[in-house]
Amino acid sequence: MTRWDEPCCARRRDGQPCGAPAIPGGFVCRRHGGSAPNVKIAAGLRLRQEAEIQALIKWNQTRSFDDLCKVTEAQRAVADYQAKLQHLAKLRRLVKLQRLAAEQGAQDAPRD
Ligand SMILES: [Zn+2]
Repeated sequence: MTRWDEPCCARRRDGQPCGAPAIPGGFVCRRHGGSAPNVKIAAGLRLRQEAEIQALIKWNQTRSFDDLCKVTEAQRAVADYQAKLQHLAKLRRLVKLQRLAAEQGAQDAPRD
């Protein structure tokens, strides 16, 4: 099983490695981008993908109905996080478009 206890991969201003624990499922600590929504969701997605793989391995060994149910639950959780990432990307595009439209409006407005 993959472990997520690697330290943050960012470097401090003096060039030394940050060394703080990375967020679960992520590669950076909270101070180095780990608290950004997209980073948090991507980390959550990695954890759920890992859980899906573990559930599949377990089901492959037991072939029990309960373990098959756990596989479908894990797959649903992965799909949920993928949808969250897509939703966030869509929101970011909208904000960018609004900003561009506002800039365009400011340029077109008559000056006096
Ligand atoms: Zn860090």
